[in-house]
Amino acid sequence: MSDVAVVGAGLSGSLLACFLARRGHAVTVYERRSDPRTARVPVERGRSINLALSERGLDALRRLGLDEQVMAEALPMRGRMVHPVRGAPDFQQYSVDGTRAINSISRATLNSALVDAAASAPDVRLLFEHKLVGLDPLVFETPQGKVEASADVVLGADGAGSAVRGQLLGDGVLDESLDFLDYGYKELSIPPLGGDFALPPDALHIWPRGNAMMIALPNPDRSFTCTLFWPNGGTESFASLSSPAAIERHFRRHYPDVLPLMPTLVDDYQHNPVGRLGTVRCAPWVVDGRVGLIGDAAHAIVPFYGQGANCAFEDCVELDRCLSECGDDWTAALPLYESRRRANVEAIAEMALDNFVEMRDKVASPLFRVGKGVEHALERALPGRYVSRYELVSFTTTPYADVRRRVRRQHQAVGVAALLAAAAGLAGWRTWRR
Ligand SMILES: Cc1cc2nc3c(=O)[nH]c(=O)nc-3n(C[C@H](O)[C@H](O)[C@H](O)COP(=O)(O)OP(=O)(O)OC[C@H]3O[C@@H](n4cnc5c(N)ncnc54)[C@H](O)[C@@H]3O)c2cc1C
Repeated sequence: MSDVAVVGAGLSGSLLACFLARRGHAVTVYERRSDPRTARVPVERGRSINLALSERGLDALRRLGLDEQVMAEALPMRGRMVHPVRGAPDFQQYSVDGTRAINSISRATLNSALVDAAASAPDVRLLFEHKLVGLDPLVFETPQGKVEASADVVLGADGAGSAVRGQLLGDGVLDESLDFLDYGYKELSIPPLGGDFALPPDALHIWPRGNAMMIALPNPDRSFTCTLFWPNGGTESFASLSSPAAIERHFRRHYPDVLPLMPTLVDDYQHNPVGRLGTVRCAPWVVDGRVGLIGDAAHAIVPFYGQGANCAFEDCVELDRCLSECGDDWTAALPLYESRRRANVEAIAEMALDNFVEMRDKVASPLFRVGKGVEHALERALPGRYVSRYELVSFTTTPYADVRRRVRRQHQAVGVAALLAAAAGLAGWRTWRR
């Protein structure tokens, strides 16, 4: 068995350590931050991030017996609650029978649970305050100065700004492209109201506003974390809105129903940072059969399908599967992992970008609601044969690339059926007129 260095004890690094320990590898996890379970520094302001955890992530957790513990901290959201500027909110259930849910969980809570699991796995060492600064040899910056380390295999699970990827880029053995959106995100908060949730807690709330949107996910303390997804520049953007009066005026005009629920709006807006949103693509993910990238380090995506962490967890499951199939021969398993994941990751990256337009714009249109109604009717009429894209992505582990292919086929078939039905109707009408 091998000596494996995992760089990053975020979501994918700590989960991966658990999978590798179960296989009998000796794992050392190097993390640049301090231990999140005892962190002296609280999560950075405005970066709490709650995640929608869905079937792919749960499947990975189930394989390690961690699902029940994690789900005890999560809140199910059975649909989206769309808030128009005026009028009552509209609840759109995610699954055809209304029972399936995605689950709101704080990223910090999930991370701590996974770090805990890794810490109690056999032969896993967790070294915090170790920031990778060199790959060959492995060098980490620590509060005591630089330290060198060695490993048979190095896995970069160090997030979208991966230092491992940066080192491979610097060595000229990897290409990358970073596509940032002209949009950023900022967190706001809705505290409990009279000790209870200020909005229905079993939904992901969306305020679609054409070229901008806000979402809110529930927390166990009965608050909601809201996230604005707004253009960075131009009129009505993060850049153009800064004074307290302008902020309140903007919210009164575009988000009137939540303004009274946000007593800290101006303070949150003025002090919480604007995060960047983008897609990271790079190749290869594996170098010399001994260095590999996983999760956001290999393929960060925009968050509009709620799949970044779910997809990173699937990476861990696939790598574990490849190691099984290759008898833990890393030089065979790592390239196999890359070849199986690449098309799937490209598919979800594209679907996540498409979903931004759907969330910020289309969900508000009556036509979209009719379309969803038709889709659910088709799902009921053709159970298992017609399944919506949302359902396939969020409630199954069907590979993302297969989801994309299948949805295209379904749309073509429905298009053809609609044309045939229209043609039959027209023929009937002509016969009737004769
Ligand atoms: C606003 C927003 C909303 C999101 N919503 C969802 C959602 O609903 N559902 C979902 O599935 N995903 C969501 N995501 C995506 C999700 O957060 C990421 O996909 C996920 O965190 C990726 O996990 P990771 O382990 O690859 O990277 P990370 O979680 O970023 O972990 C990387 C770790 O590496 C460490 N590190 C970095 N550099 C070094 C270094 N040089 N040396 C040592 N350690 C280092 C970091 O400190 C960190 O602990 C969202 C993201 C954002 C920004």
